[in-house]
Amino acid sequence: MIAAKRLWRWHLAKEKLTKAEQALADLEAEEHRLRDAVARLEQKMREAPVSDEPEQQIARMLLEQELYMARRAWEDFLQWRVDREAVVHQEIQRHLWEKSQLEDDLDQQLLAAYERVAAIKRQPIVEVRNKSCTGCNLTLSLSKLAEWRRARELVYCDECGRILV
Ligand SMILES: [Zn+2]
Repeated sequence: MIAAKRLWRWHLAKEKLTKAEQALADLEAEEHRLRDAVARLEQKMREAPVSDEPEQQIARMLLEQELYMARRAWEDFLQWRVDREAVVHQEIQRHLWEKSQLEDDLDQQLLAAYERVAAIKRQPIVEVRNKSCTGCNLTLSLSKLAEWRRARELVYCDECGRILV
């Protein structure tokens, strides 16, 4: 259990790091989306016919308005992003540090065991709650529970193969 606990703490730090990195990528994707929206409307604007026809004039006006809104949304996002990105970068630094600290407590054997399960399961290590594996939600057998309580080395779920903590 002790080995699993250490692995668990490291795993949580790693997950937090992944999440923060994803948040950064999401900001990037959102910026692209807003910028593309502006570019699309600008293109439409260039292609819109200029004429005295009231109907076409109205259409052009509406398009202009749409473009104005899209540019505003993009600019607002860029401003907001500066602060948000600074926060996420700080989070990433913190999680990186935490992860490397926890990694110092793990030996190669433990990490290798984790990687083996990680190759086939997205959540390679899961908690035992209500006598069940929270990875596959199946109740552990009494002997497995006893083994898990006693164990100083890693114990795996019989059903899904995940490391139990
Ligand atoms: Zn399981």
